[in-house]
Amino acid sequence: GSLDGPALPRYVRVNTLKTSMDDVLTYFKRQGYTYLGKARSIKELIDFGQKSGKSFLQDLHIPNLLVFPPSTDFHKDSLYTAGHLILQDKASCLPALLLDPPVGSCVIDACAAPGNKTSHLAAIVQNKGKIFAFDLDTKRLATMSTLLLRAGVTCQELANQDFLTVSPCDPKYQKVSHILVDPSCSGSGMPDRMRVLTEESGSDQDERLQALSAFQRRAVSHALRFPSVQYVVYSTCSIHQQEDEDVVKDILEQHPDFRLVNVLPMWPARGLNTFPGSECCLRASLSETLTNGFFVALFQRRSPEEKR
Ligand code: SAM
Repeated sequence: GSLDGPALPRYVRVNTLKTSMDDVLTYFKRQGYTYLGKARSIKELIDFGQKSGKSFLQDLHIPNLLVFPPSTDFHKDSLYTAGHLILQDKASCLPALLLDPPVGSCVIDACAAPGNKTSHLAAIVQNKGKIFAFDLDTKRLATMSTLLLRAGVTCQELANQDFLTVSPCDPKYQKVSHILVDPSCSGSGMPDRMRVLTEESGSDQDERLQALSAFQRRAVSHALRFPSVQYVVYSTCSIHQQEDEDVVKDILEQHPDFRLVNVLPMWPARGLNTFPGSECCLRASLSETLTNGFFVALFQRRSPEEKR
């Protein structure tokens, strides 16, 4: 509500594997929604976030993303159940968008379930090439299979495997050029988690964050070891520096052959100023970007000439 600032809008990603933006626009107009066009500024989005009623916008930053008023619920909508629409927060669309693997490329999604980012990656590569997707959790992986089937994804190979045990030398992964690392995190950027975490005592929280950030460092480091990898995107739905900037800083120190890419320069919320170049990273929040709390960094392998 407006008392505690803006409410989170309902974001709807148009699944281009199954439909097109034009068809979806026509559908919603027929359902009685007024289409307000593409947002021109964050302010326009935030003002829209205060509204209710039957109108919608196209997002400013993410292609194929629509913005509906906070109270809208599409879980029973026939386009959703048919996999034409993916209900995904705007911030969680950033990692696949920024990784931007070319059509036909070989990609790894290291911690993939329940698979919203995998399905976004599949749409970007147009179901051509290969997405190797790993997750430790059998149940979440089963949910993921259903989600990918519904979304029309066909280029995936799912494995119930610890990503840290996936061998970078395996010939199977020789051509992997892009890797998405979205590991388990505290979830402190999610509205429900925030409340739980503030109730946790300081030392319990510290210990948990330490364990999480140790895994996050290992997962990103492991991704950078794949022989042909050019780009690795790292994301969390955490607002803690320990899981975000601190992880990135350590990775850059350990892997001098990689650098940060300055992603989406027009995006207003940047990495906390804790090391030189931290502003290349993105942050997201309800108040600044009208999304859940989120963090993204994109690593790129330096070209041979660049190496000193
Ligand atoms: N990327 C997913 C999406 O967009 O739908 C969300 C991923 S969630 C933040 C983190 C996932 O990492 C969980 O499903 C968890 O089971 C998985 N995970 C944790 N440790 C892992 C490991 N060592 N190897 C592979 N997956 C792991």
